Amino acid sequence: MHYIILDLEATCWQDKSERRRSEIIEIGAVKINEHQELVDEFSAFVQPIEHPELSDFCTELTTITQQDVDGADTLDVVIKAFWNWIDLDTPYLLGSWGRYDRNQFQKDCELHNLPQHWLKPHISLKHQYTVIKGLNRHAGMKGALWMEGIDLEGTHHRGIDDARNISKIFLKLFKHWDK
Ligand code: AMP
Ligand code: MG
Repeated sequence: MHYIILDLEATCWQDKSERRRSEIIEIGAVKINEHQELVDEFSAFVQPIEHPELSDFCTELTTITQQDVDGADTLDVVIKAFWNWIDLDTPYLLGSWGRYDRNQFQKDCELHNLPQHWLKPHISLKHQYTVIKGLNRHAGMKGALWMEGIDLEGTHHRGIDDARNISKIFLKLFKHWDK
């Protein structure tokens, strides 16, 4: 079994009046094996097709620039590299901090007419963390890192850095997840 801890960034807008359908602009993921070793990483920008122009708000939030996405492939291309990297023919489980990432993948796969079955083996680490720790509300990734005494490394809201940080929580509590 491989555990794929993933985190997406997507187009976003600050003003309600401006808000549109979000699309993936970055896929970040790390692969962890049964021996609790981080064996590989995946990091790619994705060019959005409906609203290819990033808002200033989105660039400020994520640090992802217009050049980053202009130079990137669209999801139909990037996803094939991601599937190869996951290796869909071997047992795998996707994990993300909440259900947002899977839902966003579902929406974008629909938009690009791509299959969605590969998203089925998925757990929300955020929801499980609440149960494991007996919290009365869900913790954000930053809060969970703080509670675990793990320093946030890299840039929050960058997919690959978020995925790395979430993977540290995943590894610290490896035995506890329902997986
Ligand atoms: P995250 O994994 O927390 O970096 O968030 C994933 C995506 O959710 C971001 O790329 C944004 O599209 C959206 N998002 C996160 N936080 C905010 C926010 N404060 N305001 C608007 N959109 C956000
Ligand atoms: Mg993120």
